[in-house]
Amino acid sequence: MPTPPQLKEAPIDGHRPMKVRVIGAGYSGIYLGIRIPQRLRNVDLQIYEKNEAVGGTWWVNRYPGCACDIPAHSYQYSFNPNPDWSAFYAPQKEICAYLQGSAEKYGVMRYVKLSHNVESCRWDDSRKKWILNVKRTDTGEIFEDDADVLIAARGNLSDPAWPNIPGLQSFQGETMHSARWNEDYDFKNKRIGVIGNGSSAIQIVPKLQKIEGAQLSCFVRSKTWITNPFGDSVMNKLGLDPKKLDFSPEQRQEFANNPEKLYNFRKIIELDGNTIHDVSLRGSAMQQGAIGLFGTAMRERLAKKPEIAEFLIPSFGIGCRRATPGPGYLEALAESNVDFITDPIDTVTATGVALKSGREVPLDALVCATGFNTGSAPPFPVYGKGELSLQSRFTPYPTAYLSLAVDGFPNFFMMLGPNSAIGSGSLTVILENEGDYIVKAIRKLQKEDYATISVKPERVRDWADYCHEYFKKTVYTDQCHSWYKSDGGFGDRITGLWPGSALHALEALRAPRWEDFDYEGLEGEGGNRMKWLGDGWSVTHMPSEDGKGWGGDPAWYMEPCFMDIPLPGRPEDAEEFKLRPFSH
Ligand code: NAP
Repeated sequence: MPTPPQLKEAPIDGHRPMKVRVIGAGYSGIYLGIRIPQRLRNVDLQIYEKNEAVGGTWWVNRYPGCACDIPAHSYQYSFNPNPDWSAFYAPQKEICAYLQGSAEKYGVMRYVKLSHNVESCRWDDSRKKWILNVKRTDTGEIFEDDADVLIAARGNLSDPAWPNIPGLQSFQGETMHSARWNEDYDFKNKRIGVIGNGSSAIQIVPKLQKIEGAQLSCFVRSKTWITNPFGDSVMNKLGLDPKKLDFSPEQRQEFANNPEKLYNFRKIIELDGNTIHDVSLRGSAMQQGAIGLFGTAMRERLAKKPEIAEFLIPSFGIGCRRATPGPGYLEALAESNVDFITDPIDTVTATGVALKSGREVPLDALVCATGFNTGSAPPFPVYGKGELSLQSRFTPYPTAYLSLAVDGFPNFFMMLGPNSAIGSGSLTVILENEGDYIVKAIRKLQKEDYATISVKPERVRDWADYCHEYFKKTVYTDQCHSWYKSDGGFGDRITGLWPGSALHALEALRAPRWEDFDYEGLEGEGGNRMKWLGDGWSVTHMPSEDGKGWGGDPAWYMEPCFMDIPLPGRPEDAEEFKLRPFSH
């Protein structure tokens, strides 16, 4: 006689207690701090943030001109639209304040430990736990913590890359990285060198150029596309003058008073962002059109110094390197106090920069707008199963299933991991969907009594193969140097970008394919895998702890948020039907 199964003395939705640890409190970490308590129960959540405030990259980057180079209305939480952005491309301080305000508004700060730097993470397979070593940067105290689930929400652009130029340390003047800005330094009447022409330098140069008495030397070694802010037709629809991208107090008040107007404004931006995906395909009509348009615009903006246009305008497609609108950048380069230097740098000396051509450029300050160590593992050790380090797992190139999970690293997820940025569309919507995916996985572990979830190695390989094949037809594999590529920007793998459009990413992330993962039950091999069904009760109709009510809402399914109301009549006849996305 087979032994009858032993029922678990618990309701089906009792959800076992779990410890979840998140590394980083930027856009991603704050999102998790909102959704995990909202959607899950019995979670002991802690978000470790190494800095003394939340905001991530928007707290760290404080260079002059630092702003969002995509429309701020498309770079915010979908559920918390800000009517009060002062400009189409909002400045860093406002974005940081928005993030801090969102964290306060949704009660995230109670989970955040500021000035806590995670120094190492190690999977303990016998305990099925992550072991974290954390250092308090304010007191120096080091302590150990453990977690059932570990989420790296540290962002791809958080580890500054200093240029590997001989002599950099010997420079006697002021040296700073764009992401390590010295706000106290007075640039007035100074000879300033700026290395790089990526998105950061493109924002920094116009600001430094206008400083009284400043003499700029811009060291540029690569070609790049500078795009126009937004098409005139979109600007018309938005009611904006492309030359004046600030919002007046009246416009902001109107957004605040009239949510429908704000919604329509946002919708136009999203529609535009999601209908230019074609531009990423090599040889597409949209790509060809953009090359003509932006090439002409760059030449016009550089009319005073046409030799710069000749150097800068690339032969690779727009988007191969991240294209940025860079308001004022080309105009600044054309000014008389700016020297545009394309001779390669040889060394940095005590007094300036020596070029390969033999020329010496004397400097008081050297700004390295040289980007970040991207796509790599965190700068602290992370060891998965069998002492496998994430660093070696990410060699020769980083790859993670759907950008968020790596085989051999159970109960570990990444927000905006490898292959998660996008060429067009809204990054914050993708980030929200990644967070939702992870929340669903934690719920599965909790509710279905799994000790671990771990993506199958063959699915990670399939994903990497898919990415490699997909990118072949895109401009991203053109001959350019870009942080989207492996091997420090020179490799043949695209490791920075999602392999498809933003809408493609949303669809892929919408419903997890649970069959792509391996699981270990709490009871081990051979255990009863249906024990999660519990004792036949739901917590929602059991007495609450204080005995004064129920454990939940015993008729929760009647609440509007759980209803999916079909349209009356034949759905295909209704106008709205044509506009609605298909739902699962
Ligand atoms: P980046 O795009 O990686 O650009 C780094 C620049 O430094 C490049 O021009 C690079 O030249 C140059 N460089 C690096 N090492 C050098 C060396 N040894 N000698 C000479 N030049 C050197 O970095 P970033 O400008 O900081 O931008 C990184 C990313 O941050 C952006 O793509 C974007 O995603 C994000 N970002 C966003 C915003 C926003 O508004 N949303 C603003 C700023 C940054 P090569 O190209 O020749 O390597």
